[in-house]
Amino acid sequence: MTVLALDVGGTKIAAGVIDDHGEVLRYATRPTPLTDLDHTWAALMDAAREALDGREVDGVGVACAGPVDSGFGTVSPINVPCWQDFPLITRLRAAFPNVAVELAGDGVCMALGEHWMGAGRGADFLVGLVVSTGVGGGLVLHGRPYGGRTGNAGHIGHIVAEPDGLPCSCGGRGCVETVAGGPHLVHWARQRGWRAPDNADAAHLAAAALTGDEIAQTAFDRAGRAVGMAIAATAALCDLDLAVVGGGIAQAGDLLLDPIRQALDDHARLSYVRNLRVVPAELSAHAGLVGAAALVIRS
Ligand SMILES: [Zn+2]
Repeated sequence: MTVLALDVGGTKIAAGVIDDHGEVLRYATRPTPLTDLDHTWAALMDAAREALDGREVDGVGVACAGPVDSGFGTVSPINVPCWQDFPLITRLRAAFPNVAVELAGDGVCMALGEHWMGAGRGADFLVGLVVSTGVGGGLVLHGRPYGGRTGNAGHIGHIVAEPDGLPCSCGGRGCVETVAGGPHLVHWARQRGWRAPDNADAAHLAAAALTGDEIAQTAFDRAGRAVGMAIAATAALCDLDLAVVGGGIAQAGDLLLDPIRQALDDHARLSYVRNLRVVPAELSAHAGLVGAAALVIRS
């Protein structure tokens, strides 16, 4: 069985042809047009055509930045403003008649991808996190993707970390994303005197932390603790055995993972969460695509 997997994010659109061993056979990307809904759709179809290269597939699985509405098959990604209540499933069914089309949020797909082929193999109750520009996540419970009522469950980046914190992209305030999301991390460090070129990003901040810059180290410590507290809360609520942490900020490795584990030591104390493991993701950029394929292949 081969499946066309699609992953729509605020920066790029990815398409892959994936077989039932989770192998990515062909892969294509396009930048995401953000201002014209038809251009965004055209970019998605363009990436799909390049990945397919004339091949027939047995289904289409799509991961989309949230929020999604899995019941109506529509998507309204915060970071793709021209797609509001965009009927993605209807469009895809018209473009790919006669095959199954499945949709889930990108966080759910990341968690499912890691569960199927990555760091989450063998764990049946896990949260997957993408710590990047934003902080996303998704749940796999009983070995199955869990989207909740509308497909958005597990969005761990919008658990509140600081009640009086900064405004968040979601419209709320003080979410984990406002502490651990890349731009926020850099902004926090700059405000406290971290000196870096104007175009410096979280990767520069990680490099500074590794060479002993105390402000940079404190920024990662603060981010890791916020993420760790959110994982502790999620584990207490959902009775998990594993958290898989991926995304650009997670490339910083132990800079982020150590304070996450410290926060779990401090806050995850009940018997059923004390042995929760936190591991880095293994599938990197392909996790969402592999998870989107799994929506079809493992349904
Ligand atoms: Zn938020």
